[in-house]
Amino acid sequence: LAASLIDRHDERVMKRIAVDMDDVLADTHGAEVAWLTTRRGAPVEATLPLDQAASAEERAALEEVMREGRFFADLAVMPDSQRVLRALAEQYETFIATAAMEYPGSFAWKFAWLERHFPFIPPSRVVFCGDKSVVQADYLVDDHPRHFSRFRGQGVVYSAPHNAHVQAYPRVNDWREVERLFLET
Ligand SMILES: [Mg+2]
Repeated sequence: LAASLIDRHDERVMKRIAVDMDDVLADTHGAEVAWLTTRRGAPVEATLPLDQAASAEERAALEEVMREGRFFADLAVMPDSQRVLRALAEQYETFIATAAMEYPGSFAWKFAWLERHFPFIPPSRVVFCGDKSVVQADYLVDDHPRHFSRFRGQGVVYSAPHNAHVQAYPRVNDWREVERLFLET
C-alpha cells in the first residue's frame, strides 16, 4: 500500500474513518458457513463466495434466518479488531457504518453486539444506514467495494472471499494490516 494514502500528519483537523461491521468487525462469513454446514450436514467451502459455495436454495434459507436478525447476535469478533479500533479511535474520528437496512430485524442485535464488544465506541459514532454514500468520512474500510463508488473519501477493501477479484482499491487482509496502514505509516 502506498504510504501516501494515509496523510495523518496534518492534525489541525482529526481525520475521520468509517468502519463496516459485517466481515470487517464481525466474522459474518464464518457464521454463514457454519450455519450452512450444519444445515447441509457436510462441509461448505469457506474460501469461496457464498454464491459459489452454496446452492440458491441454501442461500435462500440462510437469508430467511438473517432477516429474522438473531443471527447477528453472536458473531465472532475479528481477531485484533478491538485492540486496533480502540487505538484508531484515539487518533481518528472513528465511526462504525453498517448497511443494516438490508436486515431491519438485525438492528437491536447489532447494536447490542457493538455495545458488548466495542463499548468504547459511543452510540453517537454508530451509523445504521442504507446507501453508505451518505457517510462523510476520509476513509471507509469495507468488504463490499460497491459502497465505494459514490463514497467521497478513500475506500479500503477488507479482504473476504467475495472481493478477492477486486483490484481498484487498496486492500487490508486483517486488522494487523489496518493497524499498519492507519497507525504505523
Ligand atoms: Mg460488510
